[in-house]
Amino acid sequence: MPRHLNRHRRTARVAGPVLAVAGVLAISAWLVPASAPNVPSAVSPRTTAQPATAQAGTTAAPTTGTRPSQGSPAAGAPTAETRVPPSSMPPTTAPPPASEASTTAPPPPSEAQGSPAAADSLGGLVPDYVLPPIVDGLAPVLTKVPTEQKVVFVSIDDGAVKRDSDLALLEENGIKASLFLAHAFIAGEPQFYAKYTSAGHLIENHTMTHNLAFIHLSYEEQKAEICGMADFEEQQYGRRPVFFRPPGGPYTQDTRAAVAACGLKAIVDWEAKANAGRMDYQVGSGLRPGDIVLMHFRPEFPADLAAFVAAQKAAGLKVVLLEDYLATG
Ligand SMILES: [Zn+2]
Repeated sequence: MPRHLNRHRRTARVAGPVLAVAGVLAISAWLVPASAPNVPSAVSPRTTAQPATAQAGTTAAPTTGTRPSQGSPAAGAPTAETRVPPSSMPPTTAPPPASEASTTAPPPPSEAQGSPAAADSLGGLVPDYVLPPIVDGLAPVLTKVPTEQKVVFVSIDDGAVKRDSDLALLEENGIKASLFLAHAFIAGEPQFYAKYTSAGHLIENHTMTHNLAFIHLSYEEQKAEICGMADFEEQQYGRRPVFFRPPGGPYTQDTRAAVAACGLKAIVDWEAKANAGRMDYQVGSGLRPGDIVLMHFRPEFPADLAAFVAAQKAAGLKVVLLEDYLATG
């Protein structure tokens, strides 16, 4: 019996601190190397589901319907970041073709490329897809670019591990990437990432605090996270981000509205990622044209990049900067 009681006491004693640090763990997990191999897809049953493509219908509710439905974020799960976006997301929010011509005057492909600064990484390629406009105050969502052109896009998140050698590796492989940085990870040394912008990479928005329960925040709170980081990055790097990636991937209608209200053009998620030195695909077993690949600035970045490059070469895809392809600068 004493044993039994003892165990109880021990549990009670530990429970307080454990609860207290639970929230911190969710964040600090990103600072820790993802030593656990492939935890990612285990997080939620919904996550391994099919690509959004199947269900573009879920975009129902208009403007500010807070609907934490988009795969409730397994908030405590430390590995949530590596989780794939929930299957219910409308990935490419059906680009309204010809009919919407009035809104954005969708330029013919040749003209889409005509904007001056863009197109650096395109090497003469003329994109065949135009980013859908903001409709009803809601930013579109991409988990992949719907193209058959032999291109692939690289995104690198967070910003926790800062090494010149990682930048050098990207350069060696001729890769330009979109960096989704969160203030929480770069605040101590934001200027480090100016090296990336000088080298032609672009910095995008991944919130201020990287709160993994992001979709449970109110609209105003989400907006503060997004606008705050957009302002910070504009001030630091001289360019206002155009894309937003929510911590862990999930988003709500509120998120889409807040992204638009902060002056950004789209939410960008993914269907393929390099993690723990290997590739993980939500669909199929290799990279597809138009895939947006997720990586992180983590200790194992070199192994992740090597896994990506092998997959990219196997698939015969050219790495293009997402902002160039979508002419969003
Ligand atoms: Zn992240």
